[in-house]
Amino acid sequence: MIIVQNKEELLNSFRTLDRDQVSHLPQGGFPLAMRPYLSWSEPSHHKAFLLFPHESRPVGAVFRSSQGGGNHAQFCQWCHAVKPPQGIELLVAQASLKTSVGVWVCKGISCKDSMKDPQSNGLREALEPGEKLIRFQLNLQKFVLKNLY
Ligand SMILES: [Zn+2]
Repeated sequence: MIIVQNKEELLNSFRTLDRDQVSHLPQGGFPLAMRPYLSWSEPSHHKAFLLFPHESRPVGAVFRSSQGGGNHAQFCQWCHAVKPPQGIELLVAQASLKTSVGVWVCKGISCKDSMKDPQSNGLREALEPGEKLIRFQLNLQKFVLKNLY
């Protein structure tokens, strides 16, 4: 289990580019455990923050969040839950100084809760909760590590 002991360790988990974007800290104070990840938002929900363990260290990402769109059910690209449009949001991260990348995920990065629902995508998937978690972690790592690091 990787534990983040203080604010300095937390900020060091983010890219230099993102560090001054971390306007809020997770509720509950330190130390922080990632089970299996940690997410928090600005009270305005304009920004979302993510912290997850990778190769024995915490990795952070900052996202701008946009409203979901349309009237149709939306699909979370990380945990594969299907939800009404307001349950899924577009998170945009700065990939470099000039480019950004987006991903549709459960609002507030609430995939943790979505994965507990056996019918989260209405498909009655034959995946065990542990398998869903592995799929989620692979999707998340692929997105963050490939695009941002
Ligand atoms: Zn999700």
